[in-house]
Amino acid sequence: MTDTLSMQIKKVNQSRISEVDFDNIAFGKVYSDHMFMADYKDGEWTNLQVLPYEHLRLSPANSAIHYGQSIFEGLKAYRSPENEILLFRPMDNWARLNRSAARMCMPEVPEEVFMSGLQELLKLDNAWVPSKIGSSLYIRPFMFATDEYIGIRPSDTYKFMIFTCPVGSYYSEPVRVRIETNYSRAYTGGTGFAKCAGNYAGALYPAKQAQKLGYHQLIWTDASSHQYIEESGTMNVMFLINDTLITAPTGDTILDGITRKSVLTLAREWGVKVEERKVSILEVVEAIKNGTLKEAFGTGTAATIAPIALLNHDGVDYTLPAIETREFSNKILKTLNDIRYGIAPDTHNWITKL
Ligand code: PMP
Repeated sequence: MTDTLSMQIKKVNQSRISEVDFDNIAFGKVYSDHMFMADYKDGEWTNLQVLPYEHLRLSPANSAIHYGQSIFEGLKAYRSPENEILLFRPMDNWARLNRSAARMCMPEVPEEVFMSGLQELLKLDNAWVPSKIGSSLYIRPFMFATDEYIGIRPSDTYKFMIFTCPVGSYYSEPVRVRIETNYSRAYTGGTGFAKCAGNYAGALYPAKQAQKLGYHQLIWTDASSHQYIEESGTMNVMFLINDTLITAPTGDTILDGITRKSVLTLAREWGVKVEERKVSILEVVEAIKNGTLKEAFGTGTAATIAPIALLNHDGVDYTLPAIETREFSNKILKTLNDIRYGIAPDTHNWITKL
């Protein structure tokens, strides 16, 4: 893969790994020794390099800073009991990065650039992949515009980069979420399906209002009626009502989550009835009231399977069934973890070994 692309590799003189307490890793605060970087200019990707993790020098007129041509991905590497480094569905992240790129008028990243960057980086920072179950190496590929130009137009130049950080769990407890019916995250024809920086910036203020009231996150609803549930902060959301697993269909307002589709695949294989359809707040509240809502959870790379303990709607807090009773989400989390950590056989071809 790498033979057609030349890649420069510059190693750190001294690794920082001994400074890391792998038993207490906060999410996203510790960065591994190296990063990958490639430059897009004159219509092609060049200057591929793995180099020590360091700060960037940017022009104050950098167009990404002003106009937000900036996209990212998130995936994880896991260490198997045999000490192999396993990536979970990396090609899906590559494909989604390019869907985001197309929407934001940015160039696509070729598969060889994405995968060889990832592989060379992880080969060097192999020791940074934690071994404890529940811990992993979070990988952040991203691309941003680099033109020094403050007129509004698509940039001619870009950087594609990858860095990594060892992580533990994102939410340390079952989450309390508030259904948002005032602000919107995405709308038909917008950028909701893309992993572009602005989607997350626009979500901060509404999420902060909910956090002030003691909730971890919001559940977004559709922008036109605010009656249908879409997704949460960085998670898709699912409900088990009676014996049916229900989640909103992905379209242009919802991110096509890789954890989401893995959960749906497993559920269908287990014979669970799965419905990808609009799910209204009313339906969920009714199901809570009449006891048919068995489980509610978020799915995402960082959050894995995050059980929802409490749902707030219209000023009312609804406490959901006890976490210990939730057979489906507990089984899904265990099964996904067994696959990711190489404990169970990878019958779906979801794992790429380093
Ligand atoms: N929705 C949003 C808005 C997200 O940022 C994420 C995290 N990428 C997800 C859902 C979950 O996607 P995935 O399972 O691919 O991590």
